[in-house]
Amino acid sequence: MLNTYQAGRHFLQIPGPTNVPDRILHAMAKPTMDHRGPEFGRMARDILEGLKPVFKCAGPVIVYPSSGTGAWEAALSNTLQPGDKVLMFETGHFATLWHEMATRLGLDAQFVSGDWRHGVAPEVVEKTLTEDRAHTIKAVCCVHNETSTGVTSRIGEVRKAMDRAKHPALLFVDTISSLASLDYRHDEWGVDVTVGCSQKGLMLPPGLGFNALSEKAIRAAEKGGFPRSYWRWEAMLAPNKTGYFPYTPATNLLYGLREAIAMLMEEGMENVFARHARHGEATRRAVRAWGLEIQCLDEREYSGVLTAVRLPDGHNADAFRKVVLEHFNMSLGNGLSKLQGKVFRIGHLGDFNDLSLCGTLAGVEMGLGLAGVPHNKGGIQAAMEYLQKE
Ligand SMILES: *Cc1c(COP(=O)(O)O)cnc(C)c1O
Repeated sequence: MLNTYQAGRHFLQIPGPTNVPDRILHAMAKPTMDHRGPEFGRMARDILEGLKPVFKCAGPVIVYPSSGTGAWEAALSNTLQPGDKVLMFETGHFATLWHEMATRLGLDAQFVSGDWRHGVAPEVVEKTLTEDRAHTIKAVCCVHNETSTGVTSRIGEVRKAMDRAKHPALLFVDTISSLASLDYRHDEWGVDVTVGCSQKGLMLPPGLGFNALSEKAIRAAEKGGFPRSYWRWEAMLAPNKTGYFPYTPATNLLYGLREAIAMLMEEGMENVFARHARHGEATRRAVRAWGLEIQCLDEREYSGVLTAVRLPDGHNADAFRKVVLEHFNMSLGNGLSKLQGKVFRIGHLGDFNDLSLCGTLAGVEMGLGLAGVPHNKGGIQAAMEYLQKE
């Protein structure tokens, strides 16, 4: 019989929503203010400017009271027409959901099949676009960090492939689980719409969706788009200039966002990226020492956000996760759709440090023993040795 009271903090090691640091929780625990008053306008102007170095963009960032999925729909519906052809890649569960959405909206969404162990192949982008001489493909959609597999697509390489094909398609990138964790460059990589949200690398609770826009995307929205209202960029862009919104923004989440941006700037974006990369490497060293298999097969695509770990045949990852939750009060990510029961996912993103990683890996190693999963001891040791010297 387990105690009902669990002492100490819950280890929330799913790859989003992530742990919300106390600084952000405190920032949000303030009275809600008038979202049409002068103080709000000042705050929102600061936030809308402050988001630009997070996306590495010079143009506007739209903030919706929505989940990331809403921000996907906004990207598609503002820029495309029903029946337009778009190119998508089956990198995993989230790419599949985005493709389903595009199809439901009435887009002609081509889906390049994949094995859920690799990212978007730049050579396939180049070949497909080169063959599309009539330029019927209006947008290329990529998930930067596929959260179901722990595979990071090389967006800079995708951009170069599009340039080599001299193709005018828009480039949309889902950075929902990579923003403020992995190196990402909206302007430099010529991305037209970057889709993000609050509850992963930004360390906030769920509830904010983002679209960072290029000039080309704004022009596409002026000329066309689907019938739309809630998601309409034009309705946001005008009042945003003075720090206001066309409908009620998520005021207290914005208090949190202001604090999150301040924290990221204090640490420095490049340090944030290096921290995530280092924790990813330490985790993979632990997985290899256990003798388990990493879901991602290409080392150029390893993720600093999460590691998906395959269990040996005959062992169920959800049964293992249940043991870890019950014994150590830690939530690990589950395998999604095709990978259900086959992998568990270790989230190492957001407000996270060396000792949080050591605690997480210790819980995994003890859980493997308790669940009877064949493995070698010493994963945590391998991770510690790396953390100690790097
Ligand atoms: C979490 C996630 C989503 C879905 O975001 P919601 O906020 O749940 O709508 C989409 N894409 C990726 C890559 C994700 O990690």
